[in-house]
Amino acid sequence: MKHPKGLYLLFVTEMWERFSYYGMRALFVLYLTQALLFNKDLSSQIYGSYTGLVYLTPLIGGYISDRYWGNRRSIFCGGIMMAIGQFLMFFSAVYYQQAQLASYLMFCGLGILILGNGFFKPNISTMVGDLYEPTDHRKDSAFTIFYMGINVGATIAPLWCGFVGNTGNPADFKWGFLSAGIGMLLGIIVFQLLKNKYLCTPNGKQIGLTPKQNTVRLQEKKAEEKRQQHASPLRIYLSIIGAIVLFLVFSINYSSLNNNSLSIFSGADWIGSLIFSISIITPIFLITDKALTKIERERIWVIYIVSFFVIFFWSAFEQAGASLTFFADEQTNRTILGWQMPASYFQSFNAIFVVLLSPIFAMLWSFLGKKNKEPNSPTKQSIGLFLLSIGYLIIAFGVRGVAPGTKVSMLWLTSLYLVHTMGELCLSPIGLSLVNKLSPAHLASLLMGVWFMSNAAANKFAGILSGYYPENGVTKIFMGYHITTLFDFFMLFVVMSGIAAIILFFLTGKLKKMMNGVD
Ligand code: GLN
Repeated sequence: MKHPKGLYLLFVTEMWERFSYYGMRALFVLYLTQALLFNKDLSSQIYGSYTGLVYLTPLIGGYISDRYWGNRRSIFCGGIMMAIGQFLMFFSAVYYQQAQLASYLMFCGLGILILGNGFFKPNISTMVGDLYEPTDHRKDSAFTIFYMGINVGATIAPLWCGFVGNTGNPADFKWGFLSAGIGMLLGIIVFQLLKNKYLCTPNGKQIGLTPKQNTVRLQEKKAEEKRQQHASPLRIYLSIIGAIVLFLVFSINYSSLNNNSLSIFSGADWIGSLIFSISIITPIFLITDKALTKIERERIWVIYIVSFFVIFFWSAFEQAGASLTFFADEQTNRTILGWQMPASYFQSFNAIFVVLLSPIFAMLWSFLGKKNKEPNSPTKQSIGLFLLSIGYLIIAFGVRGVAPGTKVSMLWLTSLYLVHTMGELCLSPIGLSLVNKLSPAHLASLLMGVWFMSNAAANKFAGILSGYYPENGVTKIFMGYHITTLFDFFMLFVVMSGIAAIILFFLTGKLKKMMNGVD
């Protein structure tokens, strides 16, 4: 099935951006521990906060784009910011022996990367959908192809940046960060040069312009202005107060968990509290806008419900970077023909599987679509969750009864990643497509931000769950569930994603109605 050329421009741009993101991410913790000599605990905290916050700022980028800048300008500015962030990382690594200067440069770099990602990520995803008419059946397959671009970048990046940056000599990290910065610049250059030529709707209208320039949206713009005139500031004040109260509640809970005291000034996880409180207040704020029509409101509810279930998906899936890496390291036989494969290599399995399987899934959706048998989007999401559960079930039985310290075949972990990737392809690109189809145009990028926000919450939650990874036969209890062995640990995810899959599956009929004609 033919797709517009604009899709391939977005493919290449996003491929370079993800090259930059994943390339830096692959080196980040190593840089912290081996060059700046931070301890593992602090490094993991910084890493978790960074990966959590990059998925929170899409709310800001989405808002500014919908209201003022449009997708194109937001992508350009976000891309430039991220390149600057990577170059600051480069300079940090150049001066790594001057610890204070290097840390200062690094934190500035991280801040700019977090903000830049917020402008880039939701906007490029929105543009993919806008290349098509709202009812075009090619959207799911287009997002799947786009997703392949993400993962081509994610596959190459750790290999290249690892090759030049992770040599064992801390002075070489800078080359990895420099590569990430150059990759980002390449993406932006290609985008700027070709955007006017290729980024348009099937009938030739340019997409991603500012709301003012956008003739398609002119009517909505007027409606928006009217809305603004009648907007009451009360909702805004209440939301801000609500966010502050929730933030304090989460902070108190964290610190009482950590040190049994109610002082919010020690041991509080500020970033976790920030992410969780904003994840609750923003959706409430958006949906209580009285100016939304009934249909718009129902469709937004669908986005929320699906985003909620997706939290369970990513918090189990993202164990890849945490508990599953411990498992690869300590409990998996990684010897192939006498060569010991590094545990970190398992992390690229997912990206490679996405690249290999995406064309098959894109074809599958088109094929089923033609026969009128394509499952609707929430059903695909539920299948995704179900596959995640199956992946953990496979490994749970693989390790059942295995004595501690015994290493199991790497086929177990490989099968888990294969099945998880199939689940991801049913859920993640389809989710992007669904959000695009359901959003009212004046909130398109902001709601994409809400979708990514569920990733922020999930990443934070994933870190908490990974802490239950069993160690030395000690029993840990999660919500009344006892975890002593690896089997118990993996079954937690089987149950969690299995239940989520079943509930979502039973909701699909209701959700279909609430989607009001979108499928
Ligand atoms: N791997 C995908 C990306 O980098 C999806 C990440 C996510 O949504 N958690 O865009």
